[in-house]
Amino acid sequence: MLTCLISDIFCKIINKELPANIVAENDDWLAINDIHPQAPVHVLIISKKHFVGLEEARESDAELLGKLLLAANQIAQKLNLEKGFRLIINRGEDSGQLVPHFHIHLLGGRRLGAKIIKD
Ligand code: AMP
Repeated sequence: MLTCLISDIFCKIINKELPANIVAENDDWLAINDIHPQAPVHVLIISKKHFVGLEEARESDAELLGKLLLAANQIAQKLNLEKGFRLIINRGEDSGQLVPHFHIHLLGGRRLGAKIIKD
């Protein structure tokens, strides 16, 4: 169900008003390559339902949140990340969250250090 009516950049990508390198998609999420990759694989799994962060999620969103995690794993398998991968969810100022629309970073393709994404 497409419920993305807010005009943040990810809503525009979901609504195909802006281009993106799409990795996979279904009714609940869109996976795209990050425009500034921090690793050989850097995919963003973006919820098509607009919410900024987990604090806005409700019990009724539990299934959606689970689907986003399962999607991350499916995409990791598809991209042959059998040696491992990292998932990151930034939220709020201290995390350096840039886009106020819930998404999961999927990173892999090299040995990831202790610091990744920000500093
Ligand atoms: P965050 O800091 O968790 O909000 O991460 C937002 C991510 O979105 C950053 O890693 C950006 O590089 C990425 N990003 C921003 N604009 C685009 C875009 N148009 N296409 C793909 N990735 C983007």
